[in-house]
Amino acid sequence: MVQRLKAFVDQVRAQVSLYPRVPDATQEQALFGSLKPALEALLKQNDWLPESHAKFDPARYQQHPLYRDPEGRFSVVSFVWGPGHATPVHDHTVWGMVGVLRGAELCHHFGLRNGQWEAQGDSHLVHAGEVDLVSPSMGDVHRVSNALPDQITISIHVYGADIGLVKRHVMTPGQAEVREFISGYSDVPPLLG
Ligand code: FE
Repeated sequence: MVQRLKAFVDQVRAQVSLYPRVPDATQEQALFGSLKPALEALLKQNDWLPESHAKFDPARYQQHPLYRDPEGRFSVVSFVWGPGHATPVHDHTVWGMVGVLRGAELCHHFGLRNGQWEAQGDSHLVHAGEVDLVSPSMGDVHRVSNALPDQITISIHVYGADIGLVKRHVMTPGQAEVREFISGYSDVPPLLG
């Protein structure tokens, strides 16, 4: 069943190869235009993610690597969220797709207002089968949390870089300063080599 993920990774590789490593805003939209439906199709299947990469830790949300492109052009990651788990406000610096496989996520976009980081608009729910997008040109700063108070949520994220190695930023609402961070991955090896 991991074949489903492999087919998806092949699709992403083929699309990413059509564009420069850092696509411009127009190229980014074209990329999302083909990759979002491909991710939605993968999310419709709920039989391919093995236990090893769906492992839950009550202490914090997990980021299990599914695939890391050897050239660092993209990566696919399984996020496993327990009740109450949430990210800090953070950016990605590259395009990203957040797709929910099981459960539901709450996403809230943030932006600079009068020099300070503030929530923009209302938070929105992303249900199983749905995909949320982030990118430097569309809005790259958000906070994500498990929307379910008593269940595990699993989401499949795709990024335009080997995201666990990327130097990124955490923001504090109401403040201007940002703090650098590198997320890394959980201890499990990538599902696909
Ligand atoms: Fe994010």
